[in-house]
Amino acid sequence: MTRIYLLILSFTLLLLSCNREIKTTAKLELPKKEIKPERKKIYGYFKDEFQITQDTIRRNETFGEILNRNHLDYPDIYKIAQKIKDTFNIKKIKTGRPYLLLSKKDSLDSLAHPKVFIYENTPLEYTIIDFNNIDSIRVSKKKRPVKKLRKTAQVVIEKSLYQDLTDHQLSPKLAMELSNIYAWTVDFFHLNKGDKFKVIYDDIYIDDTVYAGIGKIHAALFQYGGKNFYAFRYPTDSLGYDYDYFDEEGRTLRKQFLKAPLKFGRISSRYNMHRYIKLYGRIKPHLGTDFAAPVGTPIMSTANGVVVKKGYTRGNGRYIKIKHNATYSTQYLHMSKFAKGIHVGSVVKQGDVIGYVGMTGYTTGPHVCYRFWKNGRQVDALKEKMPPAKPIDSLLLPKYLKDIQTIKKELDSL
Ligand SMILES: [Zn+2]
Repeated sequence: MTRIYLLILSFTLLLLSCNREIKTTAKLELPKKEIKPERKKIYGYFKDEFQITQDTIRRNETFGEILNRNHLDYPDIYKIAQKIKDTFNIKKIKTGRPYLLLSKKDSLDSLAHPKVFIYENTPLEYTIIDFNNIDSIRVSKKKRPVKKLRKTAQVVIEKSLYQDLTDHQLSPKLAMELSNIYAWTVDFFHLNKGDKFKVIYDDIYIDDTVYAGIGKIHAALFQYGGKNFYAFRYPTDSLGYDYDYFDEEGRTLRKQFLKAPLKFGRISSRYNMHRYIKLYGRIKPHLGTDFAAPVGTPIMSTANGVVVKKGYTRGNGRYIKIKHNATYSTQYLHMSKFAKGIHVGSVVKQGDVIGYVGMTGYTTGPHVCYRFWKNGRQVDALKEKMPPAKPIDSLLLPKYLKDIQTIKKELDSL
């Protein structure tokens, strides 16, 4: 990344200097009349007044060290740090970020001393700290003019998401953004050949020319494991500060878990680390929640995910394990039979039937033992706090459904 920022910066500078060079030569060939050469400016300062040092923040390097290395005394550095502390946190300069020092010789001095420090916060923003006059230090944060260009892309997975994006000359940042949007829906570590996504997003350019990465993702469609997963960016407050992604029916993509894997039934045994089991006559922790229901009652996946295990053991009986995202997996035990078409690798949506209640394995009656895994450890599903995820408000739903029509059509026709 650092290199990219540096590249962008040097590229901008190069472009600027090229432009000027061309202008100057052109002017030299013009009529004999004397024309004053245009004085070049950098960040609003006359270039010919300063000695310019361009570098990047090195690891563990402090603001003070940079200035001191460039011949500024510590009392002055301290003064600057004190004066700017409310507007610029010098501790927050980041390794690898580019900066510029404009230095100048004072009248009786042989060495040039820094007068202006320009820090590139991001490719889009920079901060100018002007201490030319040590008694009136000025800090200003500036934004570069940006231009958004609406883009569409569609990619069929052939090798891996990153490789395929690269092959299509698309930014890897797109993969990051998509994996955030679809964190509860698509397992990006197990994409299949032939999975496909379409996306409508903004590309951001600085000063019209320098690519600065991607902006908003307006909408996307992931065709994953043969199922369609739409995502539409939509404001969640009236002022438009907040937003979330919703599917074609206004459901949130950040799925919560269903409270139970059964539509009906009752909790017959809770998660309990100190359960006494009659069957064994000893304490054996119960790491699941039991839902009792008649044999044959459909068992549903409690969230979107991928089937990672389908099998039979003496204890579990017929069971299925589903991975939902990097953090959560769930497991369903004692099934009488599996649902048709469910295999290891199957993509399931929340509420899809994966099997049926039974009494296979160690059990005294028909029930599903529902196990909840967080970061590889079993936890109590009923006590697990989930990230809040609200669907589109029912009052706003008709408007939402109308608002997404145009962009949905655009996605579908890509
Ligand atoms: Zn159980």
